[in-house]
Amino acid sequence: MIDLDWNEDLRGRIVKPEMLPADFALTAEEAEYFASAPRPETLDFGVTRSFFGLADGGNADDPIRKEFMPTSRELEEKAYETGDPLCEKKYEAVPLLVHRYVNRALFRVTSLCATYCRFCYRRNMLNERKFVATGEEMRAVADYIASRPKLRELLISGGDPLVLDDERMDFMLGLFREARRDITLRVCTRTPVVLPARITPRLVRILKRHGPVRAVVHFNHPDEIADATRNAISLLVDSGIPVSSQTVLLRSINDDPDVLLGLFGELAKIRVTPYYLFQGDLAKGTSHFRVPLGEGIRIYEELERNKAEVPIPVYALDLPGGGGKVPIRPPYLEGLERGWFRFRDEEGNPFMYPAES
Ligand SMILES: *Cc1c(COP(=O)(O)O)cnc(C)c1O
Ligand code: SF4
Repeated sequence: MIDLDWNEDLRGRIVKPEMLPADFALTAEEAEYFASAPRPETLDFGVTRSFFGLADGGNADDPIRKEFMPTSRELEEKAYETGDPLCEKKYEAVPLLVHRYVNRALFRVTSLCATYCRFCYRRNMLNERKFVATGEEMRAVADYIASRPKLRELLISGGDPLVLDDERMDFMLGLFREARRDITLRVCTRTPVVLPARITPRLVRILKRHGPVRAVVHFNHPDEIADATRNAISLLVDSGIPVSSQTVLLRSINDDPDVLLGLFGELAKIRVTPYYLFQGDLAKGTSHFRVPLGEGIRIYEELERNKAEVPIPVYALDLPGGGGKVPIRPPYLEGLERGWFRFRDEEGNPFMYPAES
């Protein structure tokens, strides 16, 4: 196991059902999951005390609870679901670096997260090998970006890169900055929501030192925006680090135009720019989280009717099989035939996405 003891909220994480408070009653589906045979290939259970505290423990229907509590529904798999729905392995240029687009690449610096989101599209990859990238692996990425002048941006993703401590972050960002003066470093993280104490003045100084840096934070529900999260975002934005958001459309969590408008409106107030709303990817054991695409399109139409008052992100799909991200609209979306939506990627190649969840 990799040591995450350096941070108090990480150290105190709930990682077994026995660690849940006594008055937190499991639902039948949660209990069934924990009683089932452990599956080493699927996502660990883990939630920080701070994120756990945002859920209403007495309410089995609480949206935050559904984000971190596993249920037996995860054991159901659909024929079209896979362990690597975006085919990230196919685009691995050097170990842990996914180079799918000409001008931007994505580095998976760790498999670890502060809290595991049950719907994560990398839910099968994260447990395959638990790692934090070594200095050698980081150097190989730095060499690669130095040799590819067309790259304008390096995404630093995971898992969650901000489970790394300040020293490792400083070392890594320094390597990338030394390799390329001009590149933007994009930190993709959920820590402002699930581990807000991670965003400290010291971390922000490190990020600034290696700028230009921007942050993309994963937010799914207005209840995730508590005071600690507001403060974390303020630290970043006040120091000049732009922050935008990504949201996953999730059944019975945020599949309601009013909830999403509430979320995007709140994000705007804390100076976070809504960037993407993602249709769910076809990761194994996540069908109960997916909103059927036809319904997602109707929800999005309702959001767009409000775009004068609330900033609305792009509704996008990462085409299954590695076609890349496309907005869910023509000309990328062509039509529905025999239970499948047909899409085209930027190069005109066809991709299919099921109409049922
Ligand atoms: C999402 C993603 C990017 C970034 O795409 P943007 O549209 O700029 O957010 C880059 N590389 C990979 C592999 C990605 O999945
Ligand atoms: S924080 Fe991101 S990578 Fe980690 S489990 Fe959640 S969605 Fe997946």
